[in-house]
Amino acid sequence: PITTDDPVYNQLICVAVRKRPLNKKELGKREVDVVTVPNKELIAVHEPKLKVDLTKYLENQHFRFDYAFDENSDNEIVYRFTTKPLVQTIFDGGMATCFAYGQTGSGKTHTMGGDFHGKSQDCHKGIYALATKDVFRLLKSAKFRDEDLMVTCSFFEIYSGKVFDLLNNKSKLRVLEDGKQQVQVVGLQEKKAGSVEDILNLIQRGNSVRTSGQTSANQHSSRSHAVFQINLKFRTSGRLHGKLSLIDLAGNERGADTSSSNRQTRMEGAEINKSLLALKECIRALGRRGTHLPFRASKLTQVLRDSFIGENSRTCMIAMISPGMSSCDHSLNTLRYADRVK
Ligand code: ADP
Ligand code: MG
Repeated sequence: PITTDDPVYNQLICVAVRKRPLNKKELGKREVDVVTVPNKELIAVHEPKLKVDLTKYLENQHFRFDYAFDENSDNEIVYRFTTKPLVQTIFDGGMATCFAYGQTGSGKTHTMGGDFHGKSQDCHKGIYALATKDVFRLLKSAKFRDEDLMVTCSFFEIYSGKVFDLLNNKSKLRVLEDGKQQVQVVGLQEKKAGSVEDILNLIQRGNSVRTSGQTSANQHSSRSHAVFQINLKFRTSGRLHGKLSLIDLAGNERGADTSSSNRQTRMEGAEINKSLLALKECIRALGRRGTHLPFRASKLTQVLRDSFIGENSRTCMIAMISPGMSSCDHSLNTLRYADRVK
């Protein structure tokens, strides 16, 4: 339903939802698509329920968001309405964040980094790449000339409350807070980038480090948050002008692992639960300036503190939905969470 109208450029918080198509495996299992996107702001889940007489009926649950993208929307469209306005924000000297939220397999990585499961490793079509292209395009525009601003980027992941640098062989990093509540990730690599290609190479590198030694890419990424950041800095002073953080969150179903029999899994589940709850509260606080910002509640929100407090901070959340009937409960959880962010 979404066409090419202009996105809204002045929202502090934007919440969008994206439904992916049923995949081959699901179609093979005759999975039923229970999600519809009636218009560009609405999404509905048709939840199967058993009646007293044991016949099945469908109960509709509707949710309204800033944007609802159906299974025919591609990454370009999703980018244009969600993240593109945020690229403008960092050129205006602001801090911007975009989160991909949802259960494992719902399309977070497909949307953010491109599809890294395919053979082609085609990261060129995801939001990381699309935002990068726009950053360099704007850098060349009349107002911001190359000699004034430069681009650097960082890429790290947060796994079980610990920070690992993806641009430095997954070295473990400490997070320090000074007396003025400034948060610093000590030793985080910040690579200078002179072109779109430079950044795409760094993304590729970080992604391969992220999943190296893992039996399955999704097994690992379902438990960790990946944070990719593009910084705009003044060339001479090195002072930060604006920062864009693009975050591929841990699978939200992992937050439910708190009752697992495996201690490690249980602790990871508790950590993910904590960080996703803290994230929701921090985004809400961003929308209600002056309220307490509970950034210390998790490592994720702690390292993003500067992006939640700035005068010029804006954020966007894209909630991803798997359309199958077997994902119904997870989809409803995702929609309820996204509904409460604003
Ligand atoms: P997540 O990162 O949330 O675990 P992925 O992005 O890895 O999920 O997506 C799971 C699978 O579904 C991948 O094979 C991906 O290519 C596919 N997929 C996800 N979203 C879409 C979409 N909008 N269109 C087509 N395929 C998609
Ligand atoms: Mg993923």
